[in-house]
Amino acid sequence: MQREGEDVAQVFVERLERDVKRLNNIPRVRLFMMTIEDKENHKNASMCWIYVQALGEDKVWDHCHLTAKYRGSAHKICNLKHRLPKYVPVYFHKLA
Ligand SMILES: [Zn+2]
Repeated sequence: MQREGEDVAQVFVERLERDVKRLNNIPRVRLFMMTIEDKENHKNASMCWIYVQALGEDKVWDHCHLTAKYRGSAHKICNLKHRLPKYVPVYFHKLA
């Protein structure tokens, strides 16, 4: 909540910087674990969960790099494009 007399732009930048530091400090899970159910789902998957198109020889396991949980089967290219961005997008709507 903004307090009277605060510089809105300064507060925004400070909070953005704080949030980005917090995001960068979230530990990444290195160990990728699949349950038996995940393995069965991957084996039977015929559609890319990201692009919703038929899978072929390029089927890979897609997993979350924060939780290490299996998200679904995907095309190799879809998996590569679905990475966590190395930036924090900031959008302004009418500068309001
Ligand atoms: Zn795909």
